[in-house]
Amino acid sequence: MIRPVPHIGALSPYALADLGGRDTVSLAQNESAFPASPDALAAGREALADLALYPDPDWTDLRKAIAETHGVDPELVLCGAGSMELIGCLMRAYAGAGDVVLGTELSYAYVASASAQVQAEFVRAPEEDFTVSVDQILACVNERTRIVFVCNPGNPSGTAIANREILRLRTELPDNILLAIDQAYGEFAEDEPDAVFPLVERDNTVVLRTFSKAHGLAGARVGWGLFPQDIAGEIRKVLNPNNVSVAAQVAAAAAMRDQAHMKRVVVETAQIRDRFAADLRAMGLSVPPSQTNFVLIRFASAAAAQKAHAALVANGLLLRPMGGFGLSDCLRATICSEPVMARVLKVLEGTL
Ligand SMILES: *Cc1c(COP(=O)(O)O)cnc(C)c1O
Repeated sequence: MIRPVPHIGALSPYALADLGGRDTVSLAQNESAFPASPDALAAGREALADLALYPDPDWTDLRKAIAETHGVDPELVLCGAGSMELIGCLMRAYAGAGDVVLGTELSYAYVASASAQVQAEFVRAPEEDFTVSVDQILACVNERTRIVFVCNPGNPSGTAIANREILRLRTELPDNILLAIDQAYGEFAEDEPDAVFPLVERDNTVVLRTFSKAHGLAGARVGWGLFPQDIAGEIRKVLNPNNVSVAAQVAAAAAMRDQAHMKRVVVETAQIRDRFAADLRAMGLSVPPSQTNFVLIRFASAAAAQKAHAALVANGLLLRPMGGFGLSDCLRATICSEPVMARVLKVLEGTL
């Protein structure tokens, strides 16, 4: 038998959501409830004619679209096959055996997996009321801490902390610790997410974004981030060259240029989300305030959550069980169209 290196052999495969059957509506992966910008879809289709050629390894036009939209230097922008790829590269370049990657209690699961791949220890700082606590993070920092990972707004909590708290975190963290701010749901946040971009100028902070959520391009696999020049240089060494396909690059660039479409999606998603959350609370369920395209639903017990999950599955509705996060009394629901959310509510009413 051919054996892998021990730390990979000891890893479990990364647990993606159960995808359900053909007739199942997935509310498990936080994909957009709405299609991407028509401009993005048209550009992507047109680009299929160019698939004989490798993509632009510098994502030149995509970076231009991002830089112009967000008022940042294109040299500081890197693109990945999803922001997951950029997270993996950060780990490979900046953490290794003996190092600690510090996340929070309800951290994005992939960060723990990416830490294990490089033999770094992943530590979770406690959260308070399903919300990241800067004081708790700071209390967990020690001399082995190399990277602090904060997802804001958070997944799977959906809650957000104010930018001034992120600023305080950066100011109080030692300068030699890399701070990674994952803004996968930044477009849904109430506090202007771009306001943390100037932290990148301190040369020890990166900000990550994705086209998978608000832009509705999860299937295209495009993420981006803002990196200090030196860090960008190191990340490029471990990034797969030609990582973002020809069609994905042009679709993402067109999506970025259609801010009006993205903003409509965000507003409509938030309206459906807030009505759904209010209805859940009226049924006696607890729902942390969400600034994302999903809500975390807390039931009276793990048994109640399990019963609800089974009833939903029987009705072709797949939510994300949260046992893997130590929240077996919770289910996470991606916000889909109004009729789908009405179906979810009806099934839940029947089980409670
Ligand atoms: C969805 C998500 C990502 C990004 O995923 P990609 O599709 O790889 O861009 C990153 N972080 C969090 C917290 C997410 O929920």
